[in-house]
Amino acid sequence: MTSASVVRPGIDPGRTPVTGSAAAVDEAAWASAVAAVRGVPLDAEVQLICHVNPDGDALGSMLGFALGLRRLGFTRLRATFPGEFDVPEPYRALPGSDLLVPEQEAYRSAPLILIFDVAAESRLGALASLLGGVSRVVVLDHHASNTDFGDVNLVDPGAAATSVVADELLTRLGVPLDAEIAECLYVALTTDTGSFKFVRTPAVHTLAARLIATGISAADIARRTFDTRPFGAMKLTGEVLGRAVLDRSAAGGHGLAWTYATTADLERHNQRPYVLDALIDPIRGVAEADVAVVIKELTPGEWAVSLRSKGAVDVSAVAVALGGGGHRLAAGFTAHGEPEDVIMRIRPLLDAHLA
Ligand code: AMP
Ligand code: MN
Ligand code: MN
Repeated sequence: MTSASVVRPGIDPGRTPVTGSAAAVDEAAWASAVAAVRGVPLDAEVQLICHVNPDGDALGSMLGFALGLRRLGFTRLRATFPGEFDVPEPYRALPGSDLLVPEQEAYRSAPLILIFDVAAESRLGALASLLGGVSRVVVLDHHASNTDFGDVNLVDPGAAATSVVADELLTRLGVPLDAEIAECLYVALTTDTGSFKFVRTPAVHTLAARLIATGISAADIARRTFDTRPFGAMKLTGEVLGRAVLDRSAAGGHGLAWTYATTADLERHNQRPYVLDALIDPIRGVAEADVAVVIKELTPGEWAVSLRSKGAVDVSAVAVALGGGGHRLAAGFTAHGEPEDVIMRIRPLLDAHLA
């Protein structure tokens, strides 16, 4: 396992223009990836994997790419992610979902493994054991903290989503875009750009236009994916936001707003963990704080921590220091202990990583 964190110099997702064509990936890597796909027979087992607690970019880029492989004629495709086989409700109807299997049913010795939106092997859980064997491993990602753990690493920290990288590789493989592939890639693109709120260049909209031109309904997808939640999720959100804390002196005086949600909160409202992912958005909107933190208890005693900054802090560096990763303005890590303890660990690191 690669332990060193590779942060590419001069590439900063918070500032570097998004290219839309994964320009940070060199031609040799693209050629190797195309050769890896072309080099296995169409009836070979191909395993696709995305990160634990998958989000729209992880699932969307993986399933969009899987559908592209199906169009090329591949017949034995399986897509999976580590952990409980619980696809978040908003992504259950994604095209290509018929290819999803629980991690226990992943091909054990596929000659080709494709990995999506995964910055480090630690995000692969038990599926990390599939690496290092006979398989050729191609990684498609956009995290600056990516550890280059694949045989071929298509990593563009300037890309707005992993789907930008997936789209480019599909194009290079000669896969024509269709509405099903486009829906997957569009969900991925809108997830990671906050529905185009975090876009810095026109290239993302150019890709979106190409996807929408296949006939998909951007409005329907947005409503289904981001604007539809169970009533209990809305009540849960109210409680969790109600206990938010504003810590004005944190981050060198730039301020920190944070809250937490427990498994008990989820049980009380009969909700699945994915509903907690939306909590970071109202917290990051707090005017008095540069940094937003949401501490989410996914299994008893284990917390997924989401970090966001408006620019004063490099939260990727904070997350990496705590065993996680991410982007300069959006990152995360896994923690144990009480929420207050987690905040105490984060606080000095915010001061240490002021941008
Ligand atoms: P999230 O807060 O879960 O939306 O994640 C924000 C960013 O941080 C995403 O790019 C994630 O891939 C990354 N990230 C979140 N948790 C982890 C983790 N435990 N290890 C590495 N990267 C993470
Ligand atoms: Mn992701
Ligand atoms: Mn992503």
